[in-house]
Amino acid sequence: MSGKRVVITGVPGVGKTTVIEESMKRLAGEGIPYKAVNFGTCMFETAKAEGKVEDRDQMRTLDKDVQKELQRLAGKRIGEMEGNIIVDTHASVKTPVGYLPGLPAWVLTELKPDMVVLVEADEDQILMRRMDDESRRRDPEGSRSIAEHQGINRAFAAAYGMLTGCTVQVVRNENYLLDHAVEAMARVLR
Ligand code: AMP
Ligand code: MG
Repeated sequence: MSGKRVVITGVPGVGKTTVIEESMKRLAGEGIPYKAVNFGTCMFETAKAEGKVEDRDQMRTLDKDVQKELQRLAGKRIGEMEGNIIVDTHASVKTPVGYLPGLPAWVLTELKPDMVVLVEADEDQILMRRMDDESRRRDPEGSRSIAEHQGINRAFAAAYGMLTGCTVQVVRNENYLLDHAVEAMARVLR
């Protein structure tokens, strides 16, 4: 298996997808190609085809065993991909029955990540970004609960490191400092 496999995580609205896209552009310019795969999209394709949901934000309210099966299938599909791969996903997903690990052991063994990155920002900034985002059905959540979710994600990331030996990196994505986040991410991916 060749290539570098980097799993990029962060709470909804932290700006993962933006940081990923911008850092990929930078690296492509340096002759370092990455393919970005969105784990949620992979799950959604199956969930939609099976008539389980109509939009991606409904998936986290599905029965947890259904979510885990969708997750297993997505992990398997992504695990088979070759080359430098970025997986855009979540260290944990907030569901009505608690935090669901985004990368349980059976998903990690398929994905074989070299690194897990946590994209983090100030919880108040994340709250504001969610309120400004009309394109998604973000769950109503206060800043304290966003802070808790980011803390839980660090705990899960440590577990992923212990399970696979992958390294864990934190990249901050602060307001007006997207360039800093992109440079930090590019450094991780080089
Ligand atoms: P996103 O577009 O990254 O917010 O992902 C959309 C949805 O996909 C999330 O709200 C979750 O329901 C689901 N999802 C993404 N990654 C995972 C994962 N690793 N495990 C379980 N569900 C996931
Ligand atoms: Mg996203």
